[in-house]
Amino acid sequence: MTVIDVHAHYEPRMLDVPTMLAQLDERGIGRVALIPCMNDPLPETPRRLLAVVRRLMRSPCHPLAQVVAETTITRDGDLRLGGATYAIYPRPDNASVAAVVRAHPDRFLGWIFLNPRAAVGLDELERWRGVPGMIGVKLHPHWHGWPLTDAIPIAQRCEELGLPILIHLGFGARGDWRVLADAAPRLRLIFAHAGIPHYDRLWGAIRDDRRLALDVSSPYLDEALVRDAVAAVGPERVLYGTDAPYGFHGADGQYDYGAIRGWVQRLRAPARDIDRILGGNALALLDR
Ligand SMILES: [Zn+2]
Repeated sequence: MTVIDVHAHYEPRMLDVPTMLAQLDERGIGRVALIPCMNDPLPETPRRLLAVVRRLMRSPCHPLAQVVAETTITRDGDLRLGGATYAIYPRPDNASVAAVVRAHPDRFLGWIFLNPRAAVGLDELERWRGVPGMIGVKLHPHWHGWPLTDAIPIAQRCEELGLPILIHLGFGARGDWRVLADAAPRLRLIFAHAGIPHYDRLWGAIRDDRRLALDVSSPYLDEALVRDAVAAVGPERVLYGTDAPYGFHGADGQYDYGAIRGWVQRLRAPARDIDRILGGNALALLDR
């Protein structure tokens, strides 16, 4: 069974291709779907802070999480963390990912990053979708700051082409994914990071709708949350992902591909279900 990481970022300032390949080989990860990097390199967020935010997002006080999130975005749409500002790129560089996918077609796949707010839309999709290995579209309405109604034309074109959309939802109109599902009824949607910031409030819909899935990437999650998510949506709706190079670093300072894989492998589930999460579901999703 080939292990497929459906959510990683191409950020050579933190993790270059030769190092990535060596780490993937060491951990037995067959393929990685890369997303163009959308921000300046970030420092590691303290685990304790992530745990507090996670608890808040899953609690009845979850509207407070929106208030906290808003304090981290500047008026210019950049990130403000720990007193420093990190640029968010309105036009992530799809060419960089396409080049890696072309150079290593047996190891890398690519997501085409679009941003309707910066008019990076259907033209950009047409430019890259013909490159073998470009598997779908990545959207980040939370950091790019647009309501999901702005992505309806993208959703409809992806539906037509049979391409999935991987989406990092935001709050309010930036999280109202149903406008896309309603406008494009055959569209397949993958919610990044187990549906952050909605988590439990989204899982019932995913369980009941074969078009929907979630990935388990990122230190935004932890092992207990992944266990809860899999129990709620069922193993057939869950995709392995890492969010590399963000989050988990080993003693050698390199990205540790064992961390999230360990969460999946320690699930109390039949081996068949674990294999589906690690690769089988991704293969089915990519088979158009
Ligand atoms: Zn990510």
